[in-house]
Amino acid sequence: MSESFRTLDRADVKGKRVLVRVDLNVPMDNGKVTDATRLERIAPTIIEIADKGGKVILLAHFGRPKGRDAKDSLKPVAQELALILKRPVAFAEDCVGEAAEKAVAAMKDGDILCLENTRFHKEEEKNDPAFVAALAKLGDIYVNDAFSAAHRAHASTEGLGHKLPAYAGRTMQAELVALSKALEAPRKPVIAVIGGAKVSTKLELLENLIAKVDALVIGGGMANTFLHAQGITIGKSLAEKEMAATAQRILEKAEAKGCAIVLPVDAIVAFHFEANTPSHAYGLDAIPDGGMILDIGPLSIERVKSAIDDAATLVWNGPLGAFELKPFDQGTVAAAKHAAERTKAGLLVSVAGGGDTVAALNAAGVAGDLTYLSTAGGAFLEWLEGKPLPGVEVLRVK
Ligand code: AMP
Repeated sequence: MSESFRTLDRADVKGKRVLVRVDLNVPMDNGKVTDATRLERIAPTIIEIADKGGKVILLAHFGRPKGRDAKDSLKPVAQELALILKRPVAFAEDCVGEAAEKAVAAMKDGDILCLENTRFHKEEEKNDPAFVAALAKLGDIYVNDAFSAAHRAHASTEGLGHKLPAYAGRTMQAELVALSKALEAPRKPVIAVIGGAKVSTKLELLENLIAKVDALVIGGGMANTFLHAQGITIGKSLAEKEMAATAQRILEKAEAKGCAIVLPVDAIVAFHFEANTPSHAYGLDAIPDGGMILDIGPLSIERVKSAIDDAATLVWNGPLGAFELKPFDQGTVAAAKHAAERTKAGLLVSVAGGGDTVAALNAAGVAGDLTYLSTAGGAFLEWLEGKPLPGVEVLRVK
């Protein structure tokens, strides 16, 4: 897949003004960056362009400001980035107009400049042509290294790609290569593990996956809807009973496509939705009326593990139980550890992503042992849904 995109290998950046779209949307508390993972991820692209003699001009959004708002300034993020890069990062108080133009004009080859939050201008999210032109004036080349924002057709994520020669940065490239290995040209058989709260939010994702994978493990609250659709009594478990017909249709479609569906065969049930509340494993024919299924049971864990053993490639999104509440993280943790072991043994290519999934895999202590962990949230989910991502499409070799 990487070959079908223009990467930095094809870009001649020396002496050029390079507009680099990055993800600076880091968690902050009281003006301090609390998790610098995203900054560490973009460092290689910035260093490479600077070391090749390009002028690195960083473009990014932060938060969801309505107009200019000091609390969403990128200034403290630029300062933190300088510490990570161990190089000076200049800052311009605006991303277009005089402040930006002056700051760019003052740059020498190899310098790094961060422009203020693109979302201080409402035209950014509208992909407004005049705003795109104002940004394009600042650069000779456009590099997009923000896969996490690639599902949005905004001025800095998509519009610029039509105005300037456009390339994928190294982080974007790594993400595209990993995702391609997982679904576009995977080693077969491919298994998807999908959990989380609801069927309704993951409908498109399920429909896309059953057409592409050999087996689909369904866990978490969403499995309850499938169990209910099959006539199983699920007590007071979280479920979308009105989605029963949809769940049934998905099961039928999966069968027609030759995709095996792995649903829980037992469950951990409690009577309160809280940590450390008493709980027991039940067979599906014996879920108590007042009980709530909060995790998959021990037999289900064994089934999920053996389903993973049968696969050469794994795609994962969503926890298999209410993992934030101990001990209802056990199904998720056991499956995650198993996937990590198979990956480390060279038997499995494993790609996981989505906000809760990253948290769950971190909690299981195996986040670093999978082949690739995408922190991209919305963009990762849209990719799982099979949707073209505008910020990626614009980098495609035509
Ligand atoms: P999602 O954002 O759709 O991936 O859903 C993640 C949320 O689903 C997490 O907060 C989990 O606690 C929740 N969840 C997973 N399984 C269950 C379950 N059996 N009952 C209630 N909540 C669950």
